[in-house]
Amino acid sequence: MTVRAARGPKLTAKSWQTEAALRMLHNNLDPEVAERPRDLVVYGGTGKAARDWPSFEAITRCLTTLDDDETLLVQSGKPVGVLRTHEWAPRVLLANSNLVGDWANWPEFRRLEQLGLTMYGQMTAGSWIYIGTQGILQGTYETFAAVAEKRFGGSLKGTLTVTAGLGGMGGAQPLAVTMNGGAVLVVECDPERARRRLETRYLDELASDVDDAVRRVTQAKQEGKALSVAVIGNAAEVLPELLRRGVEVDVVTDQTSAHDPLAYLPVGVSVEDWHDYAASKPEEFTERARASMAQHVSAMLGFLDAGAEVFDYGNSLRGEAKLGGCERAFDFPGFVPAYIRPLFCEGKGPFRWAALSGDPADIAATDRAILDLFPENESLARWIRLAGERVAFQGLPARICWLGYGERHLAGLRFNEMVASGELSAPVVIGRDHLDSGSVASPYRETEGMADGSDAIADWPLLNALVNTASGASWVSIHHGGGVGMGRSIHAGQVCVADGSELAGQKIERVLTNDPGMGVLRHVDAGYDRAAEVARERGLRVPMLER
Ligand code: NAD
Repeated sequence: MTVRAARGPKLTAKSWQTEAALRMLHNNLDPEVAERPRDLVVYGGTGKAARDWPSFEAITRCLTTLDDDETLLVQSGKPVGVLRTHEWAPRVLLANSNLVGDWANWPEFRRLEQLGLTMYGQMTAGSWIYIGTQGILQGTYETFAAVAEKRFGGSLKGTLTVTAGLGGMGGAQPLAVTMNGGAVLVVECDPERARRRLETRYLDELASDVDDAVRRVTQAKQEGKALSVAVIGNAAEVLPELLRRGVEVDVVTDQTSAHDPLAYLPVGVSVEDWHDYAASKPEEFTERARASMAQHVSAMLGFLDAGAEVFDYGNSLRGEAKLGGCERAFDFPGFVPAYIRPLFCEGKGPFRWAALSGDPADIAATDRAILDLFPENESLARWIRLAGERVAFQGLPARICWLGYGERHLAGLRFNEMVASGELSAPVVIGRDHLDSGSVASPYRETEGMADGSDAIADWPLLNALVNTASGASWVSIHHGGGVGMGRSIHAGQVCVADGSELAGQKIERVLTNDPGMGVLRHVDAGYDRAAEVARERGLRVPMLER
């Protein structure tokens, strides 16, 4: 069955609040958007939008008939109840993949999944706000820009980056590097994935083998040319080979699905045998995958020792490699403490929206509105222009940019006015990634190395979901295990709908103020001066700073 979101101004549900959830669920499974739509898998290894097809059908049915004083409850991708609430309440509340602490590991999760009792929601798969690879493109672009700033005078021109993984998220890497002016070699084991990135213009070229790839990227580096080249191979073999050959590499990272050892291909296993082998012998497969990750990370450490900038890009590769026997795995940092935390102190993170009309002209109009609203923010303007030129939409047209506390609600309110005035041809949904400043507890990623050591405190995402529910979000979700895998994260999401109504405007103002506000509060509490400064300057109340 092929799923695709409805387009245009005509409702199939009873209101835009429920129509939006319906279209975004369907959009997550659009073959242009999802990595394996037939299995309901959207991205990030096995991140799903619904537990199974009967659940998908039942959610669709409920959203089509749900009233504006009702709330649908979704438990790990399965609709389990419809309750009477009120019009300020979310229309959908979702909880995905949550397990009690002592049970929060992959084998137990898989046992329960096989019994049909749960599903892996990743971050924006099970919370219905995935927008394709663009979703991570800007974050990746910003991260590489920060690398360039820190080490290479503000541009990656004349540098070579080596990484792996061209999946839903990892596919953003080649374009993010070339947008920063650099050359990049990406190792991907599955030719199908590489082909997909070529087709969507995220990747420039596919080399025939390692020799060919090295020749192309080395020449690009020497000529100061921006070029992305992929090679088909196993990262755990190709990276050590590059190190052995003494290839001059400046930046090394990775975006294979290392968070789930069954989604990382071990050395010696073919892509064809991968999934059957993983399913039939998960423990043996896990052991082999971890041993390969240890090899992979050892090569990354070799590049680190040779002076390259090396970082973990939020996929738990270091944690798994350590379990595989690589003692020095944590010698290089995660990307959040290395580059992103100052932005988190301002409540900044990946803010995103999608045009329910399906019309790219609506996104072009919102792009202009953003440029107009924040004229002084040059890097934002550079991103919006580049995205307009280079990003191919997948599914419903969408846009992402990083905005913080005191900014997001301005954008949301403007979009709502544009819907009301007819400048946009249909409503817009506004959400964010769970890679976020105040809604995530993830000690290997968002909360790695917090100033006060509070990395594993998981009260914050729960408070965030409660706050968004109390503030009027259209759907709110609490997940476990997204990004870095079981036992390693708790995180929450929210989506609002700008349908042009006055009520939507009131909800948007509160949600898009309070949600990033949680990010500032989280970092004030952890002792970051910049966050306290932001709270003071922008009027966010922090009881412990008041007298
Ligand atoms: P995905 O499953 O869609 O893609 C992973 C890719 O890695 C696949 O194409 C797979 O073929 C390839 N791969 C697996 N093992 C390999 C090996 N040994 N050698 C070479 N290639 C190999 O996953 P995705 O959505 O691209 O996400 C990638 C990782 O990034 C996940 O762990 C995810 O949790 C994490 N993630 C990071 C961020 C961030 O902000 N940094 C955000 C979301 C997700």
